Formats: sequence, C-alpha cells, structure tokens
Amino acid sequence: MTELAIGVDLNGTSLRIGAFTGGLEPVESISMVTRVAAGPDAVVADIAGGVRRLIQSHLGSGKGAGKLAGVGVGSPGPINLIEGRLGRLPNFPGWDGFALRDALEQALGLPVALECDANAAALAEWKAGAGKEIVVDSMCMLTLGTGVGSGIVLDGKIWHGMVGMGGEAGHVPILPDGPVCGCGSRGCLEMYASATALVRIATEMAVSGEAKDIAQLIEAKKVEGKAITALDLALLARGGGSGARELYRRLGFHLGLGLAGLVSTLDLPLYIIGGGVASAWDLFSDQMFETLHAYSYVYRLGEPSQRLKKEKDKTFVCPAQIGPGAGLLGAAMLPAFGAGRAQGESL
Ligand SMILES: [Zn+2]
Repeated sequence: MTELAIGVDLNGTSLRIGAFTGGLEPVESISMVTRVAAGPDAVVADIAGGVRRLIQSHLGSGKGAGKLAGVGVGSPGPINLIEGRLGRLPNFPGWDGFALRDALEQALGLPVALECDANAAALAEWKAGAGKEIVVDSMCMLTLGTGVGSGIVLDGKIWHGMVGMGGEAGHVPILPDGPVCGCGSRGCLEMYASATALVRIATEMAVSGEAKDIAQLIEAKKVEGKAITALDLALLARGGGSGARELYRRLGFHLGLGLAGLVSTLDLPLYIIGGGVASAWDLFSDQMFETLHAYSYVYRLGEPSQRLKKEKDKTFVCPAQIGPGAGLLGAAMLPAFGAGRAQGESL
C-alpha cells in the first residue's frame, strides 16, 4: 500500500508543500509566495489547499487508497509547542501568538505535527543527511540563513525545553555590546553568522574604508540596481578579495565562539552546519575550528586527529549535505518521529 508523508516549509517569503513516499522519496512539491500581509487565515487556507491537492493526487480514495503517514509543518520559531502558538516573529508582523497548529488541524481535519523550521532541518540532516552514515542518538545543527536557527536532538528526541522554545542557539549572545537583534537582545550569534549579518558587516567594512574590494562590489551592484548578497561576497572572497576573505574569517571566529558554547555545554558527538551560508565552508571553517579549539575545553579534550573524519568518541563538526530542501524533508519526517508536539503529548 502506498504511504504518503506531507511536509510544509513555511517562511516569511516562501511556502513549500511537499509529498514524499514512506521511504522519503520526493513525489511532488508545490511552491508559492507566503501571503504574510494577507494575514494568518489566508496562509492557513493556502497550506490546507496545497496539502489537500497533494493528498488527492497521490493517495486516491476508497478501496485501494494509500495511507497518510502524517502532515508535518516547519515554521519559524520560537513556538510554544504546548499551545501550538507562534512566538514573536520579526518576518511575520501582526502574527504574534497565532495558534497555527489548531488553525491547520481545523482547516485540514487532520492532526498536524508542528516544529520550528530549524528543528525540522536538524531531523532531516540527522537521519537522511550528514548524520546518515554516523549513527548517533544526539546531535545539533546550526542553520545559517536569513537568521541563525538551531535544532538539538538528545537521546533520539528533539530537545524542546519547557514549552518548545529550547535550542535557540542563534540568540545566544556573542558580544554584549553588539547590534540590536530582531529578538530584542544585543549581539546574538544571528547578528554575526547569518546571511543578513554578512551583508551588514560587509557594508560596514566598505564604509569604514577597511575593505576596498567590497566597496567596489557594492558600487558595481548599485550600477545594476542590485544590492550585494552573501553569495556575491563568497565569490569575491574566492576570487582573492582580501576584505571579503577577512569578512568570512570573522564569520568563522563568531561561529566558532557560538559552537564553543554549544560543545562545552552539550558534549554531543555531532554538530552540523547548514543553511545557505554553510556553502562558504571553505572560506570560514579553518577559523571556526581554530576558535572552537581555543575557546572550548570540552572540544580540545574530544578533538579528532583530522577534521571531517569521524573518530569514535570524538566531537565531529561537518557541513550539511541536504541543502535548501532539508526543512521540507524534515517537516515530512516529523510525524513518523513522534516530533511536533510537546513532550508527552502524542498525535
Ligand atoms: Zn537575537
């Protein structure tokens, strides 16, 4: 009998809904713009419409119909998992406290597993990506995208904390007098290791006269009517731009500090670095490992003899493998792993 798992990856700009087989092979996915300004009810209707369409197309009805493994949703966090409510989300103005899980369950007439997107991505990388060959019960993934998300798996379960907001390592302070973050604090890791942060810091380096290569890039992009992106900066660094190389070295330093806190606190066997910024691994990882070594006693005690080679009882830090599809795949995996609910609550 056919089994179908549905994943939903919701963010401030795009909404993706994907159908997967029970073996997690992709079947079909739908992408659309997230109608944030139209309000939560409109977006819930979009999600429910897409999920129903995929179920109807691939599961059939009546005798011989397949089985629905479940519907999982990855949304920006933090989320109160006991109530299934969204927290304060900078990219979703006016949505504060929205009871997304109840609204989706009502619209679909089905149970929904809701997790923050970083937890969904961590689940995918743990079971189907960089963690697939390394069988571990516990791991942590940092997702460096527009913001910095993180997901922690402890003893086979996503770590939720008290109400579901645990594992927000992107908002751990790195510098107490740093810039104000979208969360309201100052100097969070997100302000130094996200794609948004890279562009901000690059612009500051260009304005201060510290990075002439970046200043030239900004001017060239301006002529085209475009703004610089993290990808442009990575290309500039690979082309030898000294300012851009320094930018990525600083990223490695700040990321290394963030990782040092995690490694020293958690002592897990596996840490995965994902998200769009992680594709610049060649530009920041040397500094990241050096900083991690310098600032984490626990890492020094568990450091492997070679980076990127998993050794028994040693701390392994590696780039993600799945890429931008991790959030969608992980969302589809949530129901099967009993995730997406507060601890002790079942679907
Ligand atoms: Zn923050």
